[in-house]
Amino acid sequence: MIGVTILGSTGSIGVSTLDVMSRHRDLFAPVALTANNNVQGLLAQCLEWRPQYAVMADPDAARQLRDGLRHKAPGIRVLAGSDGLQEVAACAETDYVMAAIVGAAGLLPTLAAAQSGKRVMLANKEALVMSGQLFMDAVRENNACLLPVDSEHNAIFQCMPVRQREESLPQVGVTRILLTASGGPFRTTPLSALREVTADQACAHPNWDMGRKISVDSATMMNKGLEVIEACWLFATDTDNIEVVIHPESIIHSLVEYADGSVLAQLGNPDMRTPIAYALAWPRRLDAGVKRLNLFEVSQLNFAQPDPERFPCLGLARRAFAAGGTGTTLLNAANEVAVAEFLKGRIRYTDIAPVVEQTLSEVAVEPADTLEQILHADQQARACAGGHCRVFSAKFGGGHRNH
Ligand code: NAD
Ligand code: MG
Repeated sequence: MIGVTILGSTGSIGVSTLDVMSRHRDLFAPVALTANNNVQGLLAQCLEWRPQYAVMADPDAARQLRDGLRHKAPGIRVLAGSDGLQEVAACAETDYVMAAIVGAAGLLPTLAAAQSGKRVMLANKEALVMSGQLFMDAVRENNACLLPVDSEHNAIFQCMPVRQREESLPQVGVTRILLTASGGPFRTTPLSALREVTADQACAHPNWDMGRKISVDSATMMNKGLEVIEACWLFATDTDNIEVVIHPESIIHSLVEYADGSVLAQLGNPDMRTPIAYALAWPRRLDAGVKRLNLFEVSQLNFAQPDPERFPCLGLARRAFAAGGTGTTLLNAANEVAVAEFLKGRIRYTDIAPVVEQTLSEVAVEPADTLEQILHADQQARACAGGHCRVFSAKFGGGHRNH
């Protein structure tokens, strides 16, 4: 029996992970389930799955969960805070860790999983974007097995030769990575109308049902920018070797081009249970409950180049990676702040990219060799981006708009 810790089990990826595990109860058992403050959600999962540990990041929520479990499932140990998350990511009972917390909050527990040599199934791209080299070093030094769950990176991984792990991309004949993107809900919205779009419109993704933060990132294509950076670290390459291709149907999840002209792609219905099952089963395959791809129903696949004016965040991500050091830490932190403010209705959709751009211009890039340096850069960028958000918010109408 393989013990699985799910960091962020109440979220979109967490719930899909439990769905795949429910089809293979003979293979996988949850060691720990965790959430931020969704007490009812985690309580229900605990009663169904009976993990050894349950962790709530929020201490008050942890107390409520403990009360809720006292009579119904007294054997489950309830932990709290970042320490609790790190403990269950690293504990001896855990073999695999699904890293599915959203944003920078996932860094410390995901890093703890890597440092303890676990199989790390990475959905939490922000953790890798903010800590790049440090995270990859932790994986290598501790013999952790890092498997991408992000659908594009999972596709690329599936299209890479096995030797890619030991040799460089040119050595194994790879010339380019083609990263597909749906283009999100505003792919064809008139540019002049983007100022007025609401958070609910931004979260209504045409092909994927995801958490609200990543949904906004998909609309701005900052998600693709973060994914370009994620791919650079996962596959030891540079942004020049990664081309973003808009593919509105989300059937091809990414492609790998080889020196001989071959281009390998991974296809499937847009359902995160496929990459989740692949990460759980690798190097084998398991039923994921996913509907079979019907090419006759799909009928046509389309491709287009992203428009830099519509999607300025893509260029900002490339610029942040090129800056090296804490550049991508700053990018991620500024984006998290701006997206949170947009989701609260305090700034406009079209303010997100300028907040990130101004933060990148104002906060100095430093070396990113230690966790302290990374967390310091994260804090600096949050303060700077927060200041810019207040200025935009005042222009917008003081944050009284209710989205
Ligand atoms: P979500 O918002 O649905 O779920 C987030 C989970 O993290 C929840 O369980 C929540 O309780 C927990 N969480 C939130 N803040 C926390 C905090 N401060 N401390 C501890 N736990 C916290 O998000 P999601 O859509 O499942 O995305 C999770 C991650 O996976 C993100 O990094 C996202 O970019 C990535 N991802 C998601 C998808 C998708 O289809 N949803 C696809 C690819 C990658
Ligand atoms: Mg993705």
